[in-house]
Amino acid sequence: SDFNGTSASDSFVKTPTIKFTQLFINGEFLDSVSGKTFETIDPRTGDVITRVAEGDKEDVDLAVKAARAAFDHGPWPRLPGAERGRIMMKFADLIDKHAEELAILDTVDAGKLFSVGKTMDIPQVAEMLRYYAGAADKIHGEVLKMSRELHGYTLLEPIGVVGLIVPWNFPSTLLFGKVSPALAAGCTMVIKPAEQTPLSALYYAHLAKLAGVPDGVLNVITGFGKTAGAAISYHMDIDKVSFTGSTEVGREVMQAAAKSNLKTVSLELGGKSPLVIFDDADINMAADLALLGILYNKGEICVASSRVYVQEGIYDEFVKKLQEKAKDWVVGDPFDPNVRQGPQVDKKQFERILSYIEHGKKEGATLLTGGKPVGNKGYYIEPTIFTDVKDDMLIAQDEIFGPVMALMKFKTIEEAIQRANNTKYGLAAGIITKDLNVANTVSRSIRAGIIWINCYFAFDRDCPYGGYKMSGFGRDFGMQGLYHYLHTKSVVTPLFNSPW
Ligand code: NAD
Repeated sequence: SDFNGTSASDSFVKTPTIKFTQLFINGEFLDSVSGKTFETIDPRTGDVITRVAEGDKEDVDLAVKAARAAFDHGPWPRLPGAERGRIMMKFADLIDKHAEELAILDTVDAGKLFSVGKTMDIPQVAEMLRYYAGAADKIHGEVLKMSRELHGYTLLEPIGVVGLIVPWNFPSTLLFGKVSPALAAGCTMVIKPAEQTPLSALYYAHLAKLAGVPDGVLNVITGFGKTAGAAISYHMDIDKVSFTGSTEVGREVMQAAAKSNLKTVSLELGGKSPLVIFDDADINMAADLALLGILYNKGEICVASSRVYVQEGIYDEFVKKLQEKAKDWVVGDPFDPNVRQGPQVDKKQFERILSYIEHGKKEGATLLTGGKPVGNKGYYIEPTIFTDVKDDMLIAQDEIFGPVMALMKFKTIEEAIQRANNTKYGLAAGIITKDLNVANTVSRSIRAGIIWINCYFAFDRDCPYGGYKMSGFGRDFGMQGLYHYLHTKSVVTPLFNSPW
C-alpha cells in the first residue's frame, strides 16, 4: 500500500473502561424489558467491545412515560432558566473532567481520532452546553404592537417531550447539538444513539445525573433504528423528533410523525457537497482544504466535500499537488497521534464504500490514488481520488460517506454554479478564490445551508447548521437551534374595556 499504517499493539493504544451498558430510564440504569442485548464492535479490529441493552418499543414507552411525568409535573420546565443553566454548567464541567474517558469510548466505538476527540469534540460538547446554559435565562417572547385596543404578547414555552435520534459519525457533538438546546428550553427527552456507537451516550447520562439533571428529564434507549428508533418516531406522546441521519430514514421518520400524532420534525440528512476552486486560488491551500474536506473523520461526515470542481487554468497543477499530499496522509490506528484517518465505522460501511469505488471504475472514472483497503484487519480504506468524473456518474451523485473524492474540471463561473447545484442535496459548499465578487456571487447562488469561503468545516456553535432540498430542514446550533425546542404562545386581552 502507498499509505502508512500502524498496528493496534502499539503503546499509544488505550483500553476503555466500560461502566455503562444498560438503558437509562428515569434516572436509573436498567436492563431492557426483553432482557436482550446486542454487540458493539471495535472497527479497528472487528472485535466485540461489549454487549449493550437492546431497547425496543416497551422500553421506549417506559422512557416516554418518565419524560412525560418529568415534563408535566416535574421541576425541570418550571425551574427559573438560570437554575437550569447552573445545572447545565455543572454537567459541562463534569464532561470536561471526563473528556479522556469519553473520547476513548468514541474512538473504540466509531474509529474516530482520539486526539481530536479529546481536544476538540468532547470540549466542544461542554462548550455547547455552556452556550445554551447562558441562553436558558434569556428565553422570552415579545410584546406585540396590535392593530386595535388589545394587549398582546407572546410566551415561548418548551415544546414538551422530545425524541432525539442521532447517527454514529459524531456520537458526541451531534447529540449535544440537540441535548443542549432541549435542556435549556426546559424540554424532557428520550435519546436514541446509533446502534454502532451507544457507549458515550450512556456515560453522558450518568454525568447528567451527577450534575443534578432531575430523573426522567434525560433518558437513553440504546437499540436499533427499525425497533427503538421507529417506536420514538411513531410515539403518540412525543411532541417533537429531531433526527440526524440518512435521507432515506429521514423520510421514514417524517412519515411516522404524519401517521401518528403529527409531532414536529426536524431533519438533518445527507449531502454531496461541492468545493469549487477558482483559477486565482493558492493551489497549496486549495489542495489541503480539498483533502481535509473529504478525508476528515474518514469521509464519514455529512458535509464532506465529496465533489471537487477545479477551474481549468490550474487543474493539472492542482491534481499533481493533491496526489503528492494524499500520499502523506497517514491511515492507521486512531489512537496514534500521527494518524490522520482511522477505520470506517463498521463492516457494512466499509463494504459499501468499496463497492462504490468498484462502481466508479466501471463507470469509467480514473483512480488517481487509493481504491483499496489498508491492512488485513479492521475497516481501513485508502484515501481515494477519482478524476475524469462526469456529473451524472453514481460516484458524483450518491453520498458515499467515505474517503472518496470525485474531481472535476470547469471553465466558467456560471458553469460552476450550475454544476454545484446539480444534486438533490443542499447541505454545504466551499468556495476558494481571492476575488470577493466571485465569492459573493457563488455563495448566494448555491442552494445549501452553509457556505465556507476559503476554509472548510469552519464549525461553530454560534452558526446555525442544516439543509436545503433533500438534506432536510430545521437548524441545529446557534440561537435558531434553541427556537426549534420552543413553541410560541400568543396571549391577548382587551385594553381599557375596549370592544374586541
Ligand atoms: P441512519 O439514517 O441509518 O441512522 C441514523 C439513526 O437513525 C440511527 O440512530 C438509527 O438507529 C436510526 N434509525 C434507523 N432507522 C430508523 C427508523 N426506521 N426509524 C427511526 N430511526 C431509525 O444513518 P446512518 O447510516 O447511521 O448515518 C449515515 C447517514 O447520516 C449519512 O447519510 C449522513 O449524511 C447522515 N448524517 C447527516 C448529518 C447531518 O447533520 N445532516 C450528520 C451525520 C450524518
